[in-house]
Amino acid sequence: MLSQAERMILSLYEQKAGDQIIEIDSPEGKTEQAACITKEARLRLTDTPVLTFQALDDIPYIKHGFSTRLGGVSDDIWQSMNLGFTRGDDESKVKENFKRVCKAIGIKDTRLVSASQEHSDKIQLVTKEDCGKGFHIKRDFENADALITNQKGVPLVVYVADCVPIFLVDRRNKAIGLVHSGWRGTVLHIAAKTILKMKEQFGTESEDIIAVIGPSICGMCYEVGEEVAEEFNIAFKKSDVSVFLKSKGDGKYLLDLWKANMIILKNQGVPLSQISTSNVCTSCHNKLLFSHRASKGKRGTLAGFIQLV
Ligand SMILES: [Zn+2]
Repeated sequence: MLSQAERMILSLYEQKAGDQIIEIDSPEGKTEQAACITKEARLRLTDTPVLTFQALDDIPYIKHGFSTRLGGVSDDIWQSMNLGFTRGDDESKVKENFKRVCKAIGIKDTRLVSASQEHSDKIQLVTKEDCGKGFHIKRDFENADALITNQKGVPLVVYVADCVPIFLVDRRNKAIGLVHSGWRGTVLHIAAKTILKMKEQFGTESEDIIAVIGPSICGMCYEVGEEVAEEFNIAFKKSDVSVFLKSKGDGKYLLDLWKANMIILKNQGVPLSQISTSNVCTSCHNKLLFSHRASKGKRGTLAGFIQLV
């Protein structure tokens, strides 16, 4: 159940969407309403509101979703749908939150697989044998920031609260990838490396990939200093950096991780028409979503999910 305050937040989004309210099928086959909050992202108007992405909604062999702050049981700074086990919240509450979100998306919380997410460029291939790892089973792989699989029934999870989640679907081979790309992962081109790993493991061709750059901090909200800017100047071509890094003077820069990752995907051969950004900023939408920057670190954690069915 949503609290009264949460219900108000949701109804504000509903009002803002105006006539952009669509009907979608829930995992149980019921009709639900969703508000198109951007051209690319839909907010399901239920007791467990989740975001879905237009580019993935019509792919029949996957389930996907992205959590919001709303509809969970956590209190205080984690209010209420906190999906982070490592931020001081009660484990039992986080587990209940996962149950709710997974039910809303139509996946099994007992089968989730997550990576340790250490801002690396390591990619982990996972299979049915890995289901539950990072949740009720201890993970036996560490230092990974992207997961890939071509098996059905293996729900992948990525944790974020400003960092960029990237959803990848190989339409030809029916394989998926889920990437955690903060600024460090973006400098390391982890999205491109994930596609290369999918190529090696599944025979994926870049031209068959559908990519969605999910909710994360936007280029107007993300200010960085000289050291971060320098890392991008080293790792990218000058003409590319000028697209996503703008100087504000005084050694401050605005960094657009959406554009940077779009360039990475494009340079890796994914057709531009198959790359979309949700255009939902965690900081601009900090009543709906958790933002590390906007909350000055006092926050819960969001998660993105994708699974082959
Ligand atoms: Zn923003």
